[in-house]
Formats: sequence, C-alpha cells, structure tokens
Amino acid sequence: MDLTFSEREAAFRDELRAWFADNDPGPEPSHGRDGAEADDAHFGWRRDFQRRLHAGGWAAPHWPREYGGRGATLTESAIFFEELGRARAPLPANVLGLLLGGPTLMAWGTDAQKDRFLGPILSAEEIWCQGFSEPEAGSDLAALKTRAVREEDGWVVTGQKVWTSGAQHAKWCMLVARTDADAPRHRGLTYFLMDMEQPEIQVRPLRQITGESEFNELFIEGARIPDEHVVGGVGNGWKVALTTLMNERAGLAFFLQVRMRRLLDDLIGEAAARGVLDDDVAAERLGALHVKTEILRLTAYRGLTAIEKYGQPGPEGSLTKWMWSEANQELAELAVDLLGPDALVAGSPWGYEVLRSRGNSIEGGTTEILKNIVAERVLGLPRVRG
Ligand SMILES: Cc1cc2nc3c(=O)[nH]c(=O)nc-3n(C[C@H](O)[C@H](O)[C@H](O)COP(=O)(O)OP(=O)(O)OC[C@H]3O[C@@H](n4cnc5c(N)ncnc54)[C@H](O)[C@@H]3O)c2cc1C
Repeated sequence: MDLTFSEREAAFRDELRAWFADNDPGPEPSHGRDGAEADDAHFGWRRDFQRRLHAGGWAAPHWPREYGGRGATLTESAIFFEELGRARAPLPANVLGLLLGGPTLMAWGTDAQKDRFLGPILSAEEIWCQGFSEPEAGSDLAALKTRAVREEDGWVVTGQKVWTSGAQHAKWCMLVARTDADAPRHRGLTYFLMDMEQPEIQVRPLRQITGESEFNELFIEGARIPDEHVVGGVGNGWKVALTTLMNERAGLAFFLQVRMRRLLDDLIGEAAARGVLDDDVAAERLGALHVKTEILRLTAYRGLTAIEKYGQPGPEGSLTKWMWSEANQELAELAVDLLGPDALVAGSPWGYEVLRSRGNSIEGGTTEILKNIVAERVLGLPRVRG
C-alpha cells in the first residue's frame, strides 16, 4: 500500500489537527490507586471528551455518513487514531460501542436496530460493554454456559459473565448466550443486546493490580431480552461474535500502536534527561524497541489492505495484537530498568504502565490463542487438535 498521503488525506489530517488544537482534553485525572470515585471521574473525563468529539463530528469518522460518521476511508481512520494519540486524547468512553458494537450492528443488525442503537453510541449517551467471557469460557468461548430460554414475550437469561469491562457504566451489553443445548456447541449460540438496567443483573467490580476496577463480574438471574434485540438471528451467535472480535483486534490496533509510540518517546525523553542514553546497552534496547514500534505501525497499515479487500477485518489483526502486547510489556520493563525505582512508585504514570501492561497478553485474546489463529488462518498450517 502507498503510505504517502493524498491531498484529500492531508486536508483531513490538517482539519483534525486544528480541531484537537482547539479542544485540548486537559490533563488526565488520576485513577487506579485513588478509589472508585477517582475511577468514575476518570471515566467522566473520557465521556465528556467523546461528547466533544461527537459535537465536532469526530466521534466515529470511520462510520458511514448515513449512520452519523464521516465516511472516512481506512487511511483517514488511521490518521484519526494517529492524531488522537498525538493530541494525548483519551480513547472515547464508549470505545466498545464505537469500535465493536456499532460495526457489528452495521454488518448484522436490522434497520430498526441500527436506527435505535447507533446514535446513542456515537453521543456516549448509552455506553456498551461486551459480555462474552465466563468463568469456564474465555479462550474457548464456545464453551459458554449462560442460557437464554425463549418465553412468550422474549428471552429469559440466566448465567454468569466475568471480566466485563465497563459494565458498571453500561446501558447495553453485547451478550452471547446458549439458546440450544442440543445443537453442536458453536451452533447453539445467539447474540443479544441486553439492557443492563434491570434488577436481575448484578454487577460486581473486580479490583486489578493497578488498583482500578475496569472490569466486573455479572450475575444474571432471569434478565429479560425482547425478540427485537436478537442480532443476526437465533443460533447464529458464533458468526456475529466473530465479527465483534475481529473488529476488536483490528480497530484497536491503530490506537494501541500510536499510544506505544508516545510512551516510547516519553521514555527516550526521560532517559536523555538523566543521561542514560550515553549507555550503549540502554541506547541499543531503546533502538530495538523503536524498530519494533515502526514494524507495528507498518503492520497496522498493512491490516488496512485486508479490510479494503474483504470489507471486514481479517485474522491478520491477531498478529498486530500479539506483537503490540509483547512490545508494550517490554517497554514497561525497559522503563523500570532505565529509570529505576522511580518507575515503580504506586500511582505514578510508569508504575501504572508496568502493572497494567501485564494484562495486555490476555485481554482481547491471549497470545497463545492469537498464535494459533495466525498459524492456522494466516499461514495455513495444520489445525491444533486437543
Ligand atoms: C484487562 C482485560 C479486560 C477484559 N475485558 C473483557 C470484556 O470486556 N469482555 C469479555 O467478555 N472479556 C474480557 N476479558 C477477558 C478476556 O477476553 C479473557 O481473559 C481471555 O479471552 C482469556 O480467557 P480466560 O481468562 O478464561 O483464560 P483461559 O482461556 O482459561 O486461558 C488460560 C491459559 O491457557 C491458555 N490457553 C487456553 N486455550 C489454549 C489453547 N487452545 N492453546 C494454547 N493455549 C491455550 C491461554 O492462553 C492462557 O494462558 C478481559 C480481560 C482482561 C485481562
């Protein structure tokens, strides 16, 4: 793919840069070690920023115009994420709705669903969460046990989900549940949009090593979902869920590699200020990470070509996610080696990165699973059995 920006792309970037210059998100509020109120304030900061993006028409440039986006090309979407990172702006509060839920509805939803749900995703009026993982079904998602039983006026759901990011703020949950216990396990699943505001759903926050509670356990005891909130048809949940997962890996890739570039530049700046760059070993390790960051950026661009060809993100997104998680963990470890105990202070920006990066190789698909996907579906190697 040609990486030189066309006139139109350069104009898009300049307009966006000017918008960010007028709309500084302000300093990131502290969170993590400061308790639930600080976490809520941090989320509020991200929500406010999404509202400003929305008012400026920038909440989801990659969405088609008919759904409230800008109909941005893939290269323009990449420019959007690069500029978002450059402006040190946060990921929008409704990132799961914007990157996962919206595109899934555009691919599988009915017209009525698109009319009802897409607008409030953009404006951050309704936050979305992803109810896939269960205590005994993470990597092996098709093993999930949460049941949805058909009754006269819709579906009744019972079960437990875990690691549900943002559920404490969410109005809608992308829920995958078993609707046919007798069907082969991938065929017995259905994808629903579940209203989180019902007493039959208990949301219990889980505290992470960073101190914050990004994710939660969900206990669901007879929650109700009307028929019109089934997405993609009864029994078709596996295919719909794959659309969500592929959008997760491909959609976040751009933001993540840009954020990593920014962290690496910060580390180089701090290392230079302390005279650490004169150390050959330190300089070499920083140089190696610089090369990895560039490879990541170019691979993320290459992923765009796959979307251009097939209309949907392909399994190549798994490669970027895997490479990013390894490189980001390496970066946090290097910060500790170069900056010493200063990078380990609880509540400090580097202290946060060191702890938070541990989850990178688990969230959105573990590295082992991503390697299997790359081996089987990108390289065409024989399937793993057992
Ligand atoms: C920060 C964070 C946020 C998250 N947010 C969400 C969310 O919003 N919604 C949601 O639904 N989930 C979320 N998750 C859950 C995440 O998707 C799961 O943790 C992940 O899929 C792994 O599942 P598991 O934890 O059950 O581990 P398991 O699947 O039990 O895996 C345990 C270990 O076994 C390995 N393993 C398993 N199967 C294989 C295999 N076939 N081959 C080789 N190795 C294998 C895994 O790689 C791992 O190392 C989040 C996780 C994190 C860390």
